[in-house]
Amino acid sequence: MIIVLKPNATKRQISHLVEKIKALGLKPMLSEGTERTIIGVIGPEDVLRVQPLEVFPGVEKVMPVLKPYKLVSREFKPQSTIVDIDGVKVGGRQIVIMAGPCSVEGPEMLLQTAKIVKQTGAQILRGGAFKPRTSPYSFQGLGEEGLKYLRDTAHATGLKVVTEIMDPRDIKLLEQYTDVIQIGARNMQNFSLLKEAGLSSKPVLLKRGLSATINEFLLAAEYILSQGNFNVILCERGIRAFEDQTRFTLDLQAVPVIKKLSHLPVVVDPSHSTGNYEFVGPMAKAAVAAGADGLIIEVHPNPEVALSDGPQSLLPEKFAALIKELDKVARAVGRTVCRRAAR
Ligand code: PEP
Ligand code: MN
Repeated sequence: MIIVLKPNATKRQISHLVEKIKALGLKPMLSEGTERTIIGVIGPEDVLRVQPLEVFPGVEKVMPVLKPYKLVSREFKPQSTIVDIDGVKVGGRQIVIMAGPCSVEGPEMLLQTAKIVKQTGAQILRGGAFKPRTSPYSFQGLGEEGLKYLRDTAHATGLKVVTEIMDPRDIKLLEQYTDVIQIGARNMQNFSLLKEAGLSSKPVLLKRGLSATINEFLLAAEYILSQGNFNVILCERGIRAFEDQTRFTLDLQAVPVIKKLSHLPVVVDPSHSTGNYEFVGPMAKAAVAAGADGLIIEVHPNPEVALSDGPQSLLPEKFAALIKELDKVARAVGRTVCRRAAR
Protein backbone atom coordinates (compact mmCIF):
# COMPACT_ATOMS: atom_id res chain seq x y z
CA MET A 1 0.00 0.00 0.00
CA ILE A 2 1.19 3.49 -0.85
CA ILE A 3 -0.07 6.60 0.93
CA VAL A 4 0.18 9.83 -1.02
CA LEU A 5 0.15 12.88 1.23
CA LYS A 6 -1.23 16.29 0.30
CA PRO A 7 1.40 18.80 -0.86
CA ASN A 8 0.66 20.92 2.22
CA ALA A 9 0.71 18.05 4.76
CA THR A 10 2.48 19.22 7.91
CA LYS A 11 5.38 17.43 9.64
CA ARG A 12 3.07 16.84 12.59
CA GLN A 13 0.41 15.17 10.43
CA ILE A 14 3.08 12.99 8.81
CA SER A 15 4.58 11.86 12.11
CA HIS A 16 1.10 11.17 13.53
CA LEU A 17 0.39 8.91 10.56
CA VAL A 18 3.81 7.24 10.80
CA GLU A 19 3.18 6.44 14.48
CA LYS A 20 -0.23 4.99 13.65
CA ILE A 21 1.26 2.75 10.94
CA LYS A 22 3.92 1.51 13.38
CA ALA A 23 1.30 0.87 16.06
CA LEU A 24 -0.52 -1.36 13.58
CA GLY A 25 2.63 -3.49 13.36
CA LEU A 26 3.55 -2.20 9.89
CA LYS A 27 6.74 -0.53 8.66
CA PRO A 28 6.42 2.94 7.12
CA MET A 29 9.04 3.89 4.50
CA LEU A 30 9.09 7.57 3.59
CA SER A 31 9.88 9.04 0.19
CA GLU A 32 10.21 12.80 0.61
CA GLY A 33 9.89 14.47 -2.76
CA THR A 34 10.14 18.18 -3.54
CA GLU A 35 6.35 18.46 -3.89
CA ARG A 36 4.98 15.89 -1.50
CA THR A 37 5.77 12.95 0.74
CA ILE A 38 4.77 9.40 -0.11
CA ILE A 39 4.69 6.59 2.46
CA GLY A 40 5.19 2.96 1.48
CA VAL A 41 3.62 0.60 4.00
CA ILE A 42 5.40 -2.72 4.46
CA GLY A 43 3.95 -5.74 6.22
CA PRO A 44 0.66 -7.65 6.38
CA GLU A 45 -1.78 -5.03 5.19
CA ASP A 46 -4.95 -6.82 6.23
CA VAL A 47 -5.17 -4.65 9.37
CA LEU A 48 -5.72 -1.64 7.14
CA ARG A 49 -9.13 -2.96 6.16
CA VAL A 50 -10.40 -2.14 9.63
CA GLN A 51 -8.29 0.99 10.03
CA PRO A 52 -8.77 3.21 6.98
CA LEU A 53 -5.90 5.62 6.64
CA GLU A 54 -7.72 7.93 4.21
CA VAL A 55 -9.33 9.67 7.16
CA PHE A 56 -6.04 10.90 8.62
CA PRO A 57 -5.36 14.62 8.14
CA GLY A 58 -2.83 15.31 5.41
CA VAL A 59 -3.63 12.14 3.44
CA GLU A 60 -4.62 12.67 -0.18
CA LYS A 61 -5.07 9.07 -1.28
CA VAL A 62 -4.28 5.51 -0.31
CA MET A 63 -3.38 3.24 -3.21
CA PRO A 64 -3.13 -0.51 -3.14
CA VAL A 65 0.04 -1.62 -4.94
CA LEU A 66 -0.83 -4.04 -7.65
CA LYS A 67 2.79 -4.73 -8.51
CA PRO A 68 4.65 -7.18 -6.26
CA TYR A 69 7.29 -4.57 -5.40
CA LYS A 70 6.69 -1.23 -3.71
CA LEU A 71 9.76 0.72 -2.70
CA VAL A 72 11.51 0.34 -6.05
CA SER A 73 8.40 1.45 -7.94
CA ARG A 74 7.80 4.81 -9.62
CA GLU A 75 4.50 5.00 -7.76
CA PHE A 76 6.39 5.16 -4.49
CA LYS A 77 8.98 7.63 -5.78
CA PRO A 78 8.00 9.44 -8.99
CA GLN A 79 11.31 11.30 -9.33
CA SER A 80 14.36 9.35 -10.52
CA THR A 81 16.88 8.38 -7.87
CA ILE A 82 20.40 9.71 -8.17
CA VAL A 83 22.85 7.50 -6.30
CA ASP A 84 25.66 9.67 -4.96
CA ILE A 85 28.94 7.80 -4.57
CA ASP A 86 30.95 10.42 -2.71
CA GLY A 87 30.31 12.99 -5.42
CA VAL A 88 30.00 10.63 -8.40
CA LYS A 89 26.32 10.78 -9.27
CA VAL A 90 24.69 7.85 -11.03
CA GLY A 91 21.30 8.70 -12.54
CA GLY A 92 21.95 12.33 -13.46
CA ARG A 93 22.69 13.90 -16.85
CA GLN A 94 26.23 12.56 -16.97
CA ILE A 95 26.69 8.94 -17.92
CA VAL A 96 29.01 7.32 -15.39
CA ILE A 97 31.74 5.02 -16.63
CA MET A 98 32.96 2.16 -14.45
CA ALA A 99 35.95 0.37 -15.94
CA GLY A 100 38.78 -1.94 -15.01
CA PRO A 101 39.86 -5.55 -15.16
CA CYS A 102 37.56 -8.49 -14.58
CA SER A 103 39.73 -9.66 -11.68
CA VAL A 104 42.29 -7.87 -9.57
CA GLU A 105 45.41 -9.80 -10.57
CA GLY A 106 48.04 -7.73 -8.79
CA PRO A 107 48.91 -4.16 -7.80
CA GLU A 108 50.87 -3.19 -10.91
CA MET A 109 48.30 -4.20 -13.52
CA LEU A 110 45.57 -2.62 -11.43
CA LEU A 111 47.35 0.71 -11.11
CA GLN A 112 48.32 0.69 -14.77
CA THR A 113 44.71 0.04 -15.84
CA ALA A 114 43.28 2.49 -13.32
CA LYS A 115 45.51 5.35 -14.46
CA ILE A 116 44.49 4.84 -18.08
CA VAL A 117 40.77 4.53 -17.46
CA LYS A 118 40.84 7.54 -15.15
CA GLN A 119 42.70 9.61 -17.72
CA THR A 120 40.14 8.60 -20.33
CA GLY A 121 37.15 9.59 -18.24
CA ALA A 122 36.08 6.71 -16.00
CA GLN A 123 35.00 7.70 -12.52
CA ILE A 124 34.79 4.24 -10.95
CA LEU A 125 37.32 1.41 -10.98
CA ARG A 126 35.90 -2.10 -11.26
CA GLY A 127 37.76 -5.28 -10.33
CA GLY A 128 36.83 -8.51 -8.63
CA ALA A 129 38.63 -9.80 -5.55
CA PHE A 130 36.08 -12.55 -4.93
CA LYS A 131 35.26 -14.15 -8.27
CA PRO A 132 32.13 -16.21 -9.01
CA ARG A 133 33.68 -18.73 -11.42
CA THR A 134 31.74 -21.50 -13.10
CA SER A 135 34.59 -23.94 -12.51
CA PRO A 136 36.07 -24.43 -9.03
CA TYR A 137 39.48 -24.84 -10.73
CA SER A 138 39.43 -21.37 -12.31
CA PHE A 139 41.12 -18.38 -10.67
CA GLN A 140 38.97 -17.47 -7.66
CA GLY A 141 40.35 -13.99 -6.95
CA LEU A 142 42.88 -12.60 -4.49
CA GLY A 143 40.38 -12.06 -1.67
CA GLU A 144 41.31 -9.44 0.92
CA GLU A 145 44.68 -8.85 -0.72
CA GLY A 146 42.79 -7.81 -3.88
CA LEU A 147 40.56 -5.50 -1.87
CA LYS A 148 43.66 -3.79 -0.45
CA TYR A 149 45.05 -3.24 -3.95
CA LEU A 150 41.73 -1.74 -5.00
CA ARG A 151 41.72 0.72 -2.09
CA ASP A 152 45.36 1.70 -2.61
CA THR A 153 44.72 2.24 -6.31
CA ALA A 154 41.63 4.31 -5.58
CA HIS A 155 43.71 6.39 -3.21
CA ALA A 156 46.44 6.90 -5.80
CA THR A 157 44.11 7.80 -8.67
CA GLY A 158 41.06 9.40 -7.06
CA LEU A 159 38.76 6.79 -8.59
CA LYS A 160 35.91 5.22 -6.63
CA VAL A 161 35.79 1.42 -6.36
CA VAL A 162 33.12 -1.17 -7.14
CA THR A 163 33.81 -4.80 -6.27
CA GLU A 164 31.77 -7.94 -5.87
CA ILE A 165 30.66 -9.60 -2.67
CA MET A 166 29.81 -13.30 -2.71
CA ASP A 167 29.36 -14.17 0.96
CA PRO A 168 27.18 -12.18 3.38
CA ARG A 169 29.81 -12.81 6.07
CA ASP A 170 32.27 -10.63 4.11
CA ILE A 171 30.17 -7.48 4.18
CA LYS A 172 32.11 -5.71 6.96
CA LEU A 173 35.37 -6.58 5.24
CA LEU A 174 34.18 -5.22 1.91
CA GLU A 175 32.83 -2.06 3.49
CA GLN A 176 36.34 -1.21 4.68
CA TYR A 177 37.70 -1.16 1.15
CA THR A 178 34.99 -0.44 -1.42
CA ASP A 179 32.76 2.51 -2.31
CA VAL A 180 30.09 0.39 -4.03
CA ILE A 181 29.15 -3.20 -3.21
CA GLN A 182 28.49 -5.30 -6.31
CA ILE A 183 26.08 -8.22 -6.17
CA GLY A 184 26.72 -10.38 -9.21
CA ALA A 185 24.29 -12.02 -11.58
CA ARG A 186 24.74 -15.42 -9.95
CA ASN A 187 23.81 -14.03 -6.56
CA MET A 188 20.88 -11.86 -7.60
CA GLN A 189 18.54 -14.12 -5.66
CA ASN A 190 20.84 -14.81 -2.73
CA PHE A 191 18.34 -13.39 -0.31
CA SER A 192 20.65 -13.41 2.74
CA LEU A 193 23.18 -11.41 0.74
CA LEU A 194 20.52 -8.97 -0.45
CA LYS A 195 19.29 -8.40 3.09
CA GLU A 196 22.83 -7.88 4.37
CA ALA A 197 23.51 -5.35 1.60
CA GLY A 198 20.24 -3.67 2.54
CA LEU A 199 21.66 -2.97 5.99
CA SER A 200 24.86 -1.47 4.60
CA SER A 201 25.52 2.25 4.27
CA LYS A 202 27.32 1.64 0.97
CA PRO A 203 25.56 1.92 -2.41
CA VAL A 204 24.85 -1.40 -4.12
CA LEU A 205 25.30 -2.33 -7.79
CA LEU A 206 22.85 -5.17 -8.36
CA LYS A 207 23.33 -7.20 -11.53
CA ARG A 208 20.44 -8.95 -13.24
CA GLY A 209 20.42 -12.73 -12.85
CA LEU A 210 21.22 -14.88 -15.86
CA SER A 211 17.61 -15.96 -16.23
CA ALA A 212 15.78 -13.40 -14.15
CA THR A 213 12.71 -11.62 -15.43
CA ILE A 214 12.48 -7.87 -14.86
CA ASN A 215 9.93 -8.54 -12.11
CA GLU A 216 12.32 -10.89 -10.32
CA PHE A 217 15.14 -8.37 -10.77
CA LEU A 218 13.07 -5.58 -9.23
CA LEU A 219 11.98 -7.84 -6.38
CA ALA A 220 15.63 -8.60 -5.65
CA ALA A 221 16.25 -4.85 -5.45
CA GLU A 222 13.18 -4.55 -3.22
CA TYR A 223 14.92 -6.82 -0.69
CA ILE A 224 17.73 -4.27 -0.42
CA LEU A 225 15.45 -1.23 -0.18
CA SER A 226 13.16 -2.93 2.34
CA GLN A 227 16.10 -3.10 4.75
CA GLY A 228 16.61 0.67 4.45
CA ASN A 229 19.30 0.99 1.77
CA PHE A 230 17.83 3.07 -1.07
CA ASN A 231 21.13 3.54 -2.90
CA VAL A 232 20.74 0.79 -5.44
CA ILE A 233 21.99 0.86 -9.04
CA LEU A 234 20.53 -1.81 -11.32
CA CYS A 235 22.73 -3.43 -13.97
CA GLU A 236 21.53 -5.16 -17.12
CA ARG A 237 24.31 -7.62 -18.07
CA GLY A 238 22.65 -9.98 -20.51
CA ILE A 239 20.32 -12.90 -20.05
CA ARG A 240 20.47 -16.46 -21.24
CA ALA A 241 18.59 -17.04 -24.50
CA PHE A 242 18.94 -19.59 -27.30
CA GLU A 243 21.54 -17.55 -29.19
CA ASP A 244 25.06 -18.90 -28.79
CA GLN A 245 27.10 -16.54 -30.96
CA THR A 246 27.47 -14.27 -27.94
CA ARG A 247 27.96 -15.15 -24.28
CA PHE A 248 24.55 -13.83 -23.24
CA THR A 249 21.83 -11.76 -24.92
CA LEU A 250 21.91 -8.13 -23.85
CA ASP A 251 18.33 -7.15 -23.07
CA LEU A 252 18.48 -3.46 -23.88
CA GLN A 253 14.71 -3.20 -23.71
CA ALA A 254 15.17 -3.67 -19.99
CA VAL A 255 16.60 -0.14 -19.75
CA PRO A 256 13.48 1.83 -20.78
CA VAL A 257 11.16 -0.79 -19.25
CA ILE A 258 12.85 -0.64 -15.84
CA LYS A 259 13.01 3.14 -16.00
CA LYS A 260 9.26 3.22 -16.50
CA LEU A 261 8.60 0.81 -13.63
CA SER A 262 11.25 2.01 -11.19
CA HIS A 263 12.97 5.19 -10.02
CA LEU A 264 16.35 3.44 -9.64
CA PRO A 265 19.24 4.20 -12.02
CA VAL A 266 20.13 1.56 -14.61
CA VAL A 267 23.59 0.82 -15.96
CA VAL A 268 24.61 -1.65 -18.66
CA ASP A 269 27.47 -4.15 -18.82
CA PRO A 270 28.34 -4.75 -22.49
CA SER A 271 31.37 -6.91 -21.54
CA HIS A 272 29.75 -9.89 -19.80
CA SER A 273 26.74 -9.82 -22.12
CA THR A 274 28.68 -10.06 -25.37
CA GLY A 275 31.71 -11.97 -24.07
CA ASN A 276 33.68 -10.60 -27.01
CA TYR A 277 35.66 -7.34 -27.15
CA GLU A 278 34.54 -6.71 -30.75
CA PHE A 279 30.91 -6.28 -29.73
CA VAL A 280 31.48 -4.28 -26.56
CA GLY A 281 31.64 -0.92 -28.37
CA PRO A 282 28.46 -1.27 -30.45
CA MET A 283 26.44 -2.47 -27.46
CA ALA A 284 27.87 0.23 -25.19
CA LYS A 285 26.73 2.86 -27.69
CA ALA A 286 23.32 1.23 -28.03
CA ALA A 287 22.99 1.19 -24.24
CA VAL A 288 23.65 4.92 -24.03
CA ALA A 289 21.12 5.55 -26.80
CA ALA A 290 18.59 3.41 -24.90
CA GLY A 291 18.92 5.62 -21.82
CA ALA A 292 21.44 3.83 -19.60
CA ASP A 293 22.79 5.94 -16.74
CA GLY A 294 26.19 4.31 -16.87
CA LEU A 295 28.33 1.53 -18.25
CA ILE A 296 30.55 -1.03 -16.59
CA ILE A 297 33.28 -2.17 -18.98
CA GLU A 298 36.16 -4.60 -18.63
CA VAL A 299 39.56 -3.17 -19.61
CA HIS A 300 42.86 -5.05 -19.38
CA PRO A 301 46.37 -3.88 -20.33
CA ASN A 302 47.13 -7.29 -21.81
CA PRO A 303 43.96 -9.35 -22.36
CA GLU A 304 45.98 -12.28 -23.70
CA VAL A 305 47.29 -13.05 -20.22
CA ALA A 306 44.19 -12.03 -18.24
CA LEU A 307 43.30 -14.51 -15.49
CA SER A 308 39.61 -14.13 -16.30
CA ASP A 309 37.49 -12.77 -19.16
CA GLY A 310 40.39 -11.81 -21.46
CA PRO A 311 38.31 -12.33 -24.65
CA GLN A 312 35.84 -9.60 -23.67
CA SER A 313 38.36 -7.14 -22.21
CA LEU A 314 39.17 -3.98 -24.12
CA LEU A 315 42.72 -2.81 -24.61
CA PRO A 316 43.17 0.63 -23.03
CA GLU A 317 43.50 2.38 -26.42
CA LYS A 318 40.28 0.75 -27.67
CA PHE A 319 38.56 1.86 -24.47
CA ALA A 320 39.77 5.44 -24.98
CA ALA A 321 38.50 5.47 -28.57
CA LEU A 322 35.14 4.10 -27.42
CA ILE A 323 34.70 6.82 -24.79
CA LYS A 324 35.06 9.49 -27.49
CA GLU A 325 32.36 7.85 -29.59
CA LEU A 326 30.14 7.33 -26.57
CA ASP A 327 30.24 11.02 -25.86
CA LYS A 328 28.79 11.74 -29.31
CA VAL A 329 25.95 9.28 -28.74
CA ALA A 330 25.37 10.70 -25.27
CA ARG A 331 25.11 14.25 -26.62
CA ALA A 332 22.62 13.11 -29.25
CA VAL A 333 20.32 11.98 -26.42
CA GLY A 334 20.87 15.05 -24.26
CA ARG A 335 23.53 13.63 -21.96
CA THR A 336 27.32 13.62 -21.63
CA VAL A 337 30.18 11.25 -20.92
CA CYS A 338 33.16 12.56 -19.02
CA ARG A 339 36.12 12.80 -21.45
CA ARG A 340 39.09 13.95 -19.47
CA ALA A 341 41.72 13.00 -22.05
CA ALA A 342 39.99 14.87 -24.84
CA ARG A 343 39.80 18.18 -22.99
C1 PEP B 1 31.62 -9.21 -12.92
O1 PEP B 1 31.15 -8.10 -13.18
O2 PEP B 1 32.79 -9.38 -12.53
C2 PEP B 1 30.78 -10.41 -13.10
C3 PEP B 1 31.19 -11.60 -12.68
O3 PEP B 1 29.63 -10.16 -13.75
P1 PEP B 1 28.24 -10.98 -13.73
O4 PEP B 1 27.87 -11.17 -12.30
O5 PEP B 1 27.33 -10.05 -14.48
O6 PEP B 1 28.49 -12.25 -14.47
MN1 MN C 1 34.42 -10.64 -15.84
